[in-house]
Amino acid sequence: MELKLFTPIQYVKGVGPKRAKQLERLGIFRVYDLLYFAPRKYLDRRNILKIREVSPGTDVVIIGEVVAKGIEKRRREKVFKVIISDGSGWIELVWKSTNENFLKALHSNFGRGDRVIVTGKVSSYRGIKQIWFPEYEVLGNGSEGHSGLVAGRIIPVYPSTEGLKPKFLRKLVYSVLLEVKDKINETLPAYIRTRHRLYPRATAIKKLHFPDAMDEVTRARKTLAFEELFYFFIQILGRRLKTAGKGIPLVKSGELTDLFLKSLPFELTDAQKRVIGEIESDVARPVPMHRLLQGDVGSGKTVVALYAMLLAVENGYQAAIMAPTEILAEQHFIVISEFLKDIPVNVRILTGSLRKKERKMTLQEIESGDAKIIVGTHALIQEDVEFKNLAFAVVDEQHRFGVVQRAKLLEKGSNDGTLPHFLVMTATPIPRTLAMTLYGDLDVSILDEKPPKRGRVITVHRYEDKRQQIYSWLFDRVRQGDQAYVVAPLIEKSQKLEVKAAQELFDELKSMAPQEIKIGLIHGRMKKDERQFVMRAFRDGEFGILVATTVIEVGIDVPNATIMIIEHAERFGLAQLHQLRGRIGRSEKTSYCVIITPRSIGEDARKRIAAFVKITDGFELAEIDLKIRGPGELIGTRQHGLPDFKIVDLVRDRALVASVRNEVVKILKKDPALKLPQHRLIRAQLKIMKEQEVLYVA
Ligand code: ADP
Ligand code: MG
Repeated sequence: MELKLFTPIQYVKGVGPKRAKQLERLGIFRVYDLLYFAPRKYLDRRNILKIREVSPGTDVVIIGEVVAKGIEKRRREKVFKVIISDGSGWIELVWKSTNENFLKALHSNFGRGDRVIVTGKVSSYRGIKQIWFPEYEVLGNGSEGHSGLVAGRIIPVYPSTEGLKPKFLRKLVYSVLLEVKDKINETLPAYIRTRHRLYPRATAIKKLHFPDAMDEVTRARKTLAFEELFYFFIQILGRRLKTAGKGIPLVKSGELTDLFLKSLPFELTDAQKRVIGEIESDVARPVPMHRLLQGDVGSGKTVVALYAMLLAVENGYQAAIMAPTEILAEQHFIVISEFLKDIPVNVRILTGSLRKKERKMTLQEIESGDAKIIVGTHALIQEDVEFKNLAFAVVDEQHRFGVVQRAKLLEKGSNDGTLPHFLVMTATPIPRTLAMTLYGDLDVSILDEKPPKRGRVITVHRYEDKRQQIYSWLFDRVRQGDQAYVVAPLIEKSQKLEVKAAQELFDELKSMAPQEIKIGLIHGRMKKDERQFVMRAFRDGEFGILVATTVIEVGIDVPNATIMIIEHAERFGLAQLHQLRGRIGRSEKTSYCVIITPRSIGEDARKRIAAFVKITDGFELAEIDLKIRGPGELIGTRQHGLPDFKIVDLVRDRALVASVRNEVVKILKKDPALKLPQHRLIRAQLKIMKEQEVLYVA
């Protein structure tokens, strides 16, 4: 059968159903996947040495002839030895095993007089040179050359899976490459390749596996990573062009927005003003806005989003904000209602926990258009929710919504073929590269300035044997009027155990604390009303200390709270820690964040904690987090919108991401339908990708 790029791997000669299963475990389903299966590392075996020249302790490649072989029996183990000679000297190849069959099979692989090519580390035993457990290829007894798959060149080493020998993969890639090399279509326009010093595609694939020099690997990887990013951006930016549709122009009348600004107890920061300006000029056009609002914790994103929503309302439309959790939705609701208490706008909340009757009424108000600003969870995108005329949608994400949910909210837009303007806010800063891949289809606004008059936050790390001292210090501060959060250990996957831990901590502190100190408890298993009651009470100063699970991670805003103690901080991710710390430092007073861990913690946790103590900037922490954990861990899986790249590594290829995106933006601006002759290749490749379902985004 003739192999093509997308032939299923099981039809390749020498594969078959069993091997195909093993290959699938490595993500290899088609010939194409095999070609893009990058080696984990390379071994430089270009240099074949004379046996006389090899010295113990070095990795070598030699070729010799079998002069003797035999199995020696020791007490429990057996040893198989082959002696080879190349005229300049001789050396022993040694295998040791308790499995006699294994050694017998080896024994039958070597015939006297066979030439073998061997690689491994040389050792010396009583003056005799040996190589233990060498890699080898028997070349037979003629004078034929070696295949070059064991030595004589730079050898690729692939990630392995059980049952698949490294040599098998190497041979497979080699033979498949030979067969399909003329069927690898070029995918990048020549002018792009020249500008970025890229190989032709076929060359890049060949050199990824079998380079003639190591610097060729770098260029081959870059070429293929470029290609992946290029088509990723073409797909997402191209789709945005297609779905652009019509937007509803929103022009500021000031009826509500000015009222809002006047009612604020503070002046907007310059960054807030700038971002509001960016949004205003976007939404004034009859094209839907797609914008990402990034800002560190406490930079004032909510105010910006609320302003934009009011802009829609004063134009006679509805606006919605979707939050990832119920608690966060409730907090948005409280905060927004508070901001708007003197402004005539009907704000409603829609979550899964509304009682039936409430829910029905709310749905009616949304449909009739009486509800103007609707706060909710993904309950907002359920089928029975109908908006009268949604013109502005905000999604507040913690990398938890995928592209799909975003699209669904947009579909809720008004029914006459227009789409709502769209603002995504992220609860925590995301590294630039990731933001660009996750939100590559969005324009970006950044709030890079914190509201003024914020006190310093001092972070310290203490071991748990100091808890007594820490808490007596805390009680002292609380007696003097400070308020504090104490965060209970995170227990992943069991909310029940987490609540228990918080309850225990609460009981413990109650028994330790002096009488006059009041302590509250809040966690995710409490009823909505209870939670709101506790939150309000803490804000009104009725408790000095609030023991909490991570429910306070986001949203809560109590300026008088200046102390945060985090128990078992080693269990939290950097982003979570940063979110938690963002709850303090909201007044002019100096705040303190005390993180407590056991003395012995894992290496990654130690790195996280060291970074957290030293660095307060959220973007900087996010970059470090990305380096420690890698993008998959940081964001989650493909459902969360992270594309499934084969070659691209978002840490290693940081610089490339930006430059490829720029290139694609330029191309689409100049040639949105990709009709120009120099872009013919792109259109052809897109067609292939569509047919073969090589899609980076759902
Ligand atoms: P984010 O959502 O970006 O973490 P918030 O919108 O919750 O930040 O704002 C944090 C706090 O700062 C809130 O109490 C908010 O009312 C307040 N705030 C927002 N903008 C300003 C400003 N320009 N000056 C003073 N305080 C502000
Ligand atoms: Mg917020």
